[in-house]
Formats: sequence, structure tokens, C-alpha cells
Amino acid sequence: MKLDVKRLRYLSSEEFRVLTAVEMGSRNHEVVPTSLISSIAQLRHGGAHKILAELARERLVGKVQATKYDGYRLTYAGYDYLALRTFAKRGSVYSVGNQIGVGKESDVYIVSDEEGTQRVLKLQRLGRTSFRTVRKNRDYLRNRQGGQWLYLSRLAAMKEYAFMKVLHEHGFPVPKPIDANRHCVVMELIDGHPLYQVHDVEDPGLLYSKLMDLVVRLAQHGLVHGDFNEFNILLTSDDEPILIDFPQMVSTAHENVEMYFNRDVECLRDFFRRRFNYESALFPVFSRDGERKFNLDIAVAASGFSRKHETELREVGLGSFP
Ligand code: ADP
Ligand code: MG
Repeated sequence: MKLDVKRLRYLSSEEFRVLTAVEMGSRNHEVVPTSLISSIAQLRHGGAHKILAELARERLVGKVQATKYDGYRLTYAGYDYLALRTFAKRGSVYSVGNQIGVGKESDVYIVSDEEGTQRVLKLQRLGRTSFRTVRKNRDYLRNRQGGQWLYLSRLAAMKEYAFMKVLHEHGFPVPKPIDANRHCVVMELIDGHPLYQVHDVEDPGLLYSKLMDLVVRLAQHGLVHGDFNEFNILLTSDDEPILIDFPQMVSTAHENVEMYFNRDVECLRDFFRRRFNYESALFPVFSRDGERKFNLDIAVAASGFSRKHETELREVGLGSFP
């Protein structure tokens, strides 16, 4: 899914009102009836039909012919637009540049603010692929409709931002979080390369121990990353690792945490063996090294990303929380 920003600057305020009305109507309608959109949008010259047709042509909304009534639902493109408009108003994003990452469930772009400072915009795209459907809870997911994926993407972004903020405030090497809205997070651009692209480091043993220390330090703060691999570690030019990608993080209060912890450790060991031909007899073990001293998981919960949100994300296989 491409992020098409060409239209951004040309949407009229009426079109924006109608798009916002579709979003508002989505809170309690899977398919938002056209009449409801019209009444929320309160356009001076009557109906929203023409504008809706135009927005549908641009794929910012999708027309749905339902059995009981016809209506519209917001698309990811429309949701992107609303988030970008908010970021633009707040001054956190002025222009959108190249796409630098395409995950299964996210798109990552370089953006810049008005002064030209580069940042990263990550847009969640839950439900884009069906791989979770295969893996988890088929019936639950079969009943999930488009609008709920937007909602879950919003939760994933909210979770990512909450973790990044708490980790950053506690001195962990993560990008500085800048802004969040809807299904998107804006963060600092890390000047470096993902570890999977790195074939030479000066001292693999030193990097290995920095990374294992990070795994242990997280656990001591009550957290396990849950996807600690060469795709979610960026390496700066002076070989400092920066950790990214947090929607699946788990609290060490989780029942399977030992499994998550050991899997993160095993991922790293495996990568160092394969890539640098480096193997150490020393590696952390949860029962010995994972003892909790701080409660960052609770700090995250206090920041507004609640247990209820976590339960909803867990149903689609993303993370866990006490
Ligand atoms: P996904 O959930 O799709 O795996 P990630 O957060 O891991 O998304 O980001 C995908 C890719 O985008 C990363 O592998 C990295 O190359 C790039 N990336 C993400 N965040 C940043 C950042 N703050 N600075 C630089 N590159 C980033
Ligand atoms: Mg990733």
C-alpha cells in the first residue's frame, strides 16, 4: 500500500469535513450510512454525496453496498490522510519522502518537518496480510471487519509510542519519539543500518555483549522485546545498537515470558553464529538474569495504553501485558 500524499495539499475543507465525518461515524458503524455522514458533516450546500463519490474515486473511502443500507467506510489511505493532516497542523511532519521499510504490517517513510529535519513516520497496517489469520484464532479474525483493523492499528501505534517514550526517558537506546496520531508514530531518524545489512563490525564480541546487556536490562525493567532480531536493531556508524519496533513487547509478568526471553536470546546467538561466526559460552538465562528491579511495564500502563487495549491486541497476536 503506497502512501499517496499528492492529494494532501489539494483536499478542500469540505472534503476534509466529509472524511472526518466518515471517521466519526465509524466509531459505531461498520459501514457508515450516507445520511449519517451528511448530517455529521453539516455541509452548507446540502448533501455529501458528490464529495463522497470524489473521495471514493481517490480511494480515501470505500463505498459499501450493504444489505440494509448503502454507506462508506474509511480506508487506510483515508486514515493516513487524517493522521498526516494532524501531524502537519502540529508541525511534526511537513513533507513525506522515500519509503524505507515495508513490513508485513507497517510502512515506514522518511519525512521532514518545516526546517527540513528528517524524521521517520511509521504507519501500522494490521490486517494487510492474512498471516495472523492463519496463525491465530481464525474465527475471531474472520469476523473482523475493515474498521476494526484500523482500530487495532491505532492501538498498535499507541502501544509503540508508549513504549518508545518510556524506554527513551529511561535511557534505553531507542529512537526519540516525536508524535503519535491514529495509526502512526513519528520518531527520530536513526543514522545507521539495520543489523541484517551489516557484514562487518570491528568487534563482534563487544556488540554481542552490548545486545545481551540490553536484553537483560529490559527484563530487569519488567520488559521483553519479543522480536529482538537483526531486523529490529539498527547499528550506528560507531557500532552502537539502537532498538526499534515495539508493538509486540511483553511484560515479564506474562505467563510465557521465559519463552519470549529465551527466544530473543536465541535469535541473537543464532545471528552472531551465522553472520560473524561468533559464539560465546556466555548468554543470559531468564531464571538467573531476568530478575525484576524496576517496573517500566507499569509505567507504560500508566501512560494510557491500558490492559484493555493490550487484551485487544493480544487477540490478534501482538504482545501481552500484566
Ligand atoms: P515493522 O513492524 O514493519 O518490522 P520496523 O519498526 O521494524 O517495522 O521498521 C521497519 C524498517 O524501517 C526497519 O528495519 C528500519 O530499516 C526502518 N526504520 C524503522 N524505524 C527507523 C528509524 N527510527 N530510523 C531509521 N530507520 C528506521
Ligand atoms: Mg521490524
